[in-house]
Amino acid sequence: MNLDTLYQEVILDHYKNPLNKKLSTTFDAQVHHINPSCGDEITLNLSAADGSITSITWDGVGCSISQASVSIASDLLAGKTFADAQAITDQFVDLMQSKGKKVGDEAILEDAVALAGVSQYPARIKCALLGWMAVKDAAIQAQSK
Ligand code: ZN
Repeated sequence: MNLDTLYQEVILDHYKNPLNKKLSTTFDAQVHHINPSCGDEITLNLSAADGSITSITWDGVGCSISQASVSIASDLLAGKTFADAQAITDQFVDLMQSKGKKVGDEAILEDAVALAGVSQYPARIKCALLGWMAVKDAAIQAQSK
């Protein structure tokens, strides 16, 4: 199995069995982000305590890349400090802007490296970034409370 096939399976698995796709009843920040160019839409709840993200839950509709990406982000960034979550998000944004030249650091980005190939398709980058920007927005709101 080559890497592309493996990555496609990781994305498809997150799309079919999304993590944390059930909005929590309590939260410190709620955001709604849309990607009109594709029709992707998510609502995301974030809870925080002592400088860390304690939970990220979401609901949404859209293409497999957008939904898989928010599933990955919700799993990866929950439990991290705000600073660590921001650093990881910066790495993911950098990967998405690499035009296919970077593969991503799996030790940091974990399943998100499966989205590396998306950086070759400018029209799909917003799909991949949607969930991450929602977490970033929610984290800023939670910190300013
Ligand atoms: Zn999309």
